[in-house]
Amino acid sequence: MPEPPSGPRWAFTQVRLSLRRPWTTTMSTSEHRDTIHVAMTHNGITGLGEGAPIARYRESAEDGLRALESIRPTLEAMDPSEFQKFSTEISGRLPGQFAAKAAVDIALLDWVGKRYGLPLFRLLGLDPNDTPITSYSIGVDTGEVIREKVLEAEAYPILKIKMGLQSDETTLAAVREVTDKPLRVDVNEGWKDRETALRKIQWLESQGVEFVEQPMPAEMISETRWVRSRVRLPIVADEAATNLRELSQLVGAYDVVNVKLDKCGGIQEALRMIQAARALGLKTMLGCMVASSLSITAAAHLSPLVDYADLDGNLLISNDPYQGVEVRGGRLILPRGPGLGVTPCAAPP
Ligand code: MG
Repeated sequence: MPEPPSGPRWAFTQVRLSLRRPWTTTMSTSEHRDTIHVAMTHNGITGLGEGAPIARYRESAEDGLRALESIRPTLEAMDPSEFQKFSTEISGRLPGQFAAKAAVDIALLDWVGKRYGLPLFRLLGLDPNDTPITSYSIGVDTGEVIREKVLEAEAYPILKIKMGLQSDETTLAAVREVTDKPLRVDVNEGWKDRETALRKIQWLESQGVEFVEQPMPAEMISETRWVRSRVRLPIVADEAATNLRELSQLVGAYDVVNVKLDKCGGIQEALRMIQAARALGLKTMLGCMVASSLSITAAAHLSPLVDYADLDGNLLISNDPYQGVEVRGGRLILPRGPGLGVTPCAAPP
């Protein structure tokens, strides 16, 4: 049936994703995560998007959905082919709510790609053969479970180990009992003073670790700079790098910026953060939250631009409603269909 010649129609839903195993970091333990899914239909084409609210920034799926409902008239009055104008307008009208904004922005670019028959990487002028290897994350757990998880992760050549609780030494010992793979360590702000951070990072330097992510609380930038001048391992900013404005103050304290669509508000803002970080002489990484293949595939399309990828959020869930990016030998393989190239799973496991 032909659609009326009006603006796009938007549908918002909350989707509960089940974790394969309970997931623990310094911040929380959970068995499921709720994400925001949006579907935008215009001129017979539907663009899909997803945002995973980050509890650290006091976001929730419920609040994100309410915020989207509150701007529905704006969303339905605009032209998705003007995607840059569209996202700028939404950003101005929606304070905070970065996961909701990410869902909208992803849906816009999925729609634009489908409209012009181009995969997102092509629309962005990127080479799909330039994708990096993704790490696979191992959450905080008992030694026995960590050993099991590491063995289950056999297909992934680089592991990201969560630390920052009391168990760092036993965690690493458990990992090293079963693998000699390169490791990345994410502390999630867990080491609360510079002496502890220095001691721990010097210890990790002899343990086959590639870098350490967010060793201290985000606001402790001068303390991180003090530690950085005394260690060899690169330090990655995650919680300390939520938006463009914060990037310049990280120089000298951090070496790498972890860019996440859910943290900054979508694909377009992530592109700006990647370019700004590079201009400041920082390396870049694409990270993610626990999410379905919808959000992870969106981030993967940008991955030819970055030095490191940590795009495993869809690998941690058991009921992924979509299929899109794949991982072969650790490398991200982008789908070739238009837009994101994601398709619904015929029979979710
Ligand atoms: Mg992190």
